[in-house]
Amino acid sequence: MDKELFFILPNDCSFTGFWRGDIVRVDQLRPPPRKMFMPSLYLQGKGAIYHLGQKALPYGDKAFVAGGKTALSVAGDRIRKSLNSSGIEVVGWNDSVKECTYAVINKLVDECRHCKGHFVIGVGGGRAIDAAKTAAWKLKVPVMTVGTQCASNADASGEAVIYTDDRKFLEDLLLPRNPVLVIEDTEIIAKAPLKYIVQGMGDALSCRFESEAFAKARQKRGDGEVPTTAALALGNQCFQSLMKHGEKAANDVKNGILSLDVVEIIEAVKLSSALTFENSGCALAHALHNGLSKTGQAKGEHGEIVAYSTIVQMAYEGRPKEDIASVVRWCNSIGLPTKLAKLGTPSRQALRQAVEHACEHDRNGRNMPDKLKVPDVLEAIARVESEF
Ligand SMILES: [Zn+2]
Repeated sequence: MDKELFFILPNDCSFTGFWRGDIVRVDQLRPPPRKMFMPSLYLQGKGAIYHLGQKALPYGDKAFVAGGKTALSVAGDRIRKSLNSSGIEVVGWNDSVKECTYAVINKLVDECRHCKGHFVIGVGGGRAIDAAKTAAWKLKVPVMTVGTQCASNADASGEAVIYTDDRKFLEDLLLPRNPVLVIEDTEIIAKAPLKYIVQGMGDALSCRFESEAFAKARQKRGDGEVPTTAALALGNQCFQSLMKHGEKAANDVKNGILSLDVVEIIEAVKLSSALTFENSGCALAHALHNGLSKTGQAKGEHGEIVAYSTIVQMAYEGRPKEDIASVVRWCNSIGLPTKLAKLGTPSRQALRQAVEHACEHDRNGRNMPDKLKVPDVLEAIARVESEF
């Protein structure tokens, strides 16, 4: 490797205009190389959690475990058992991670440093996992993740969403590396309340449409930052899986059955959607979600608002009516909102503010092939409200 051909981008983990601060060959900057970020090992299955110790051992024998109270009350004993049976000592344990703020992250950094953990294991939902990933990055140690519910696709990704102390969105961090190990124990995830897997499906619904828009936008601009064909294929696979298995999976989780449909949906959300969004980009669906959330008038969880906003993106793109109708039917079948009335009916003024944010200020909005125009997006919303 010729060192002179390489330099390191500012690695402040904020958006640099490239996908992530890392080492880039100077002679390949224009166009940039295709990239694919992914975890070193993704392990999904009934009892997968018992493999944690064995798979973690190559990274050290002192574990620092961080997660939410509920998550660790469910999975904590199994985590300890697995680590201990592989000769890994649990040197630190924090079961009070509720938010992903710098206050929480810095606390985890201090605790792990104090107990000399060789790696961090993040356990639970998106915020706890993101806090653990960011703390590990600051400590320059590997991170492993253990999902306990299916609302979030944070486990396999190297990105983290940071919030302010008053729970407002602060920034997306693009961490230099992904978790080295992702454990998804289907038995634990399938027993979590139904709403989580429904929300996870709502968020995952966006990845095919946003990655396609992102790819078109990049091709159109000719700057070469196109996603890999693999990432786009995963987005498509994720969508097919949601349509085929989603309704049955939701029913099975409601009835406490760990069926093949549930297993397929866990993979679609936890692996396929994570690798798609991370290796392409978000677009109108997440831009509108962010706008609606900012107004404070849209009631709903992340995945619920994203599902509605995905239908709006489909209408905005002029997708065939029957395609939109079938997604709307699917959302209705699993209890995802398809009308603003299900999101608390934001006022006309709030809706306009949300759309203005999506079109003018949100960086995801810039990932659409054409510049978003407020009247066009408002019209797409009106179509979703009246035609489907
Ligand atoms: Zn999302």
